[in-house]
Amino acid sequence: MSTRGFVGIGTPTQFDGRYNHWDSYPTGLGAKVWATAQRFLSEDGDLDRFARTFLGYTDWRQMETGGLCAYCGQHTGQPHSISGLLLIADQYPHVSSLAAYRAALQHQGFSAPDARRRAREEWPIVRNLQQTGYPDPQSQHHQHATPDHSAITPDTVDWLFMEWAYLIDPASTTFYVMVGGIETPLTYTVDLIRPNGYHETLHKTRYMGAMLAFYAMRLPAPRWFHVEAAGDALRDSLRKAFAANDAHPLLAPLYTLPRVEVWDQRKISTDRGLRDSKPRQASSREARPGKESL
Ligand SMILES: [Zn+2]
Repeated sequence: MSTRGFVGIGTPTQFDGRYNHWDSYPTGLGAKVWATAQRFLSEDGDLDRFARTFLGYTDWRQMETGGLCAYCGQHTGQPHSISGLLLIADQYPHVSSLAAYRAALQHQGFSAPDARRRAREEWPIVRNLQQTGYPDPQSQHHQHATPDHSAITPDTVDWLFMEWAYLIDPASTTFYVMVGGIETPLTYTVDLIRPNGYHETLHKTRYMGAMLAFYAMRLPAPRWFHVEAAGDALRDSLRKAFAANDAHPLLAPLYTLPRVEVWDQRKISTDRGLRDSKPRQASSREARPGKESL
């Protein structure tokens, strides 16, 4: 199951973050981020190169692949908008021609017309994989994110989707753990403008994130299992406290946020893959005046 989160450089009030799609729990992503940063810290004596390397990427997953795209072999942004065609590419390593590929599909049980149609679409990809090791070296069936469009900041983060976050402050070698997905009694309205210009009104609940703990990175690693349990307990107790008291002091900053947001999907159609995986990151940034860089 996907458990979303992000990793950032900075502190809980000021950070530049990148998304992570899977297993963002402290026992998963938290432990990985700590170990990766520790490797840089022990090699360099500081975290400057870690921060620079990480912020050159568009997604935490690239830290593990060195930014190498599995589809085209380029060192570039996280792939998105990936055509389903690419996922079938490595099932027929032995076929050597379009006709042989069509025959292989028919052997798999496809009808002759289906096999002919699929072979025409898929053979170029199978051949790419055989010749270059990558199904889509020309990047015709997928796109890449850019670091600028991928930044998660205090202004754009949507804590509904981000269950955990890990922030590293190189200046103080501090590791912060934040927990998100905390439901509040506040709501807001979204004026959603579809790519075809059609307006839709959505009523949404505000979620928030909270700092759980911080750790000095020159000391031994936290016990991640305990961090996780403490985070779950914090999320639960805050949600209950907010439900019981909508004037809770921790809610005060949320009351200053706009009650109506405009998400204009006509402007972000080229960023579709990102929007699909992070429904509000691109949209809320897009909705802010003066930040229309897309
Ligand atoms: Zn690629």
